[in-house]
Amino acid sequence: MSKPLLKVEQLTKHYPLATGRLKKTGPVVRAVEDVSFSVAAGETLCIVGESGCGKSTIARLLMRILEPTGGRVLLNGTDIAGLNAQELRTWRRQMQMVFQDPYASLNPRLSAKQIITEPVENFERLSRKQRHALAADLLRKVGMSPEVMHRLPSEFSGGQRQRLGIARALALQPSLIIADEAVSALDVSVQAQILNLLLDLQREMGIAFVFISHDLKVVQHIGHHVAVMYLGRIVELAPCEALFAKPVHPYTEALIAAVPVPDPTRVRLEAPLDGEVPSPIDPPKGCTFHPRCPLAVERCRVDLPPLVPMADGRVVACHVRAPAANIHAFPFVPANSC
Ligand code: SF4
Repeated sequence: MSKPLLKVEQLTKHYPLATGRLKKTGPVVRAVEDVSFSVAAGETLCIVGESGCGKSTIARLLMRILEPTGGRVLLNGTDIAGLNAQELRTWRRQMQMVFQDPYASLNPRLSAKQIITEPVENFERLSRKQRHALAADLLRKVGMSPEVMHRLPSEFSGGQRQRLGIARALALQPSLIIADEAVSALDVSVQAQILNLLLDLQREMGIAFVFISHDLKVVQHIGHHVAVMYLGRIVELAPCEALFAKPVHPYTEALIAAVPVPDPTRVRLEAPLDGEVPSPIDPPKGCTFHPRCPLAVERCRVDLPPLVPMADGRVVACHVRAPAANIHAFPFVPANSC
């Protein structure tokens, strides 16, 4: 087991809602609850789940764009919550983000060269020659010609703009990239090109990814481990192959069963997932999935299931499929410590 590059322990984010004319604090939105995982160098952890499950909030907590309500984020053993502004600036060199909307995340007034060299120029002065060489190198790395470095973002296609976003993320040679729905706004053929580019860069540069997506086909292509989230909590975390071969949590099972199969002759046996995700302001008691779960028993309405380690290295939170006979003592970081 290699040492984790990123370790997340019991990460929690609540948003208090101000109510009434006096703006008193009222109910709380429980966006992320008690989330733990780790990622090793050169590996990809995918985080999946329906909209509103807390995936993107985790991305922002990892980047410290948001402050957590509780828990810790350790990068190479350093807790990022304890860093001052100067230390945080230096630390951000190690961790970069690629966003969902490649157009909105690029300054429309800057050329491709300015966009992709800007992160380095925030730290050091570059001569014209160095800036040109760096831009050319980064453009080549993401499969683009250096000749396009003077163009504006509006002169590129969606896929090319996402390549620019990736080039910008690579500029500081980070050890970890957080990709938040990085291919969901792209056509399927372009998605495949960008995913293959990320895999190539990972092989070549040993970058680790936290890849956030709602698309299970994409996750299956790129992930080493997959964390399935429901209403702010991880309900199953498993090696990618094992998860798709045999999902254990009923929610994971329903998500995988809902993936369209491009075969009109194949009969779908499993029922699709019914109902909506409950409100994170007032989540159901016990297992938060129980109002939608076909396997729910009385206990599910009362007790929150803990994450229980299984023999194949996955962890699952389900009273029926993973009875809590052998629970780790908390604080608990699942065995994807890769
Ligand atoms: Fe379903 Fe109960 Fe398992 Fe929750 S704990 S997933 S409600 S069977």
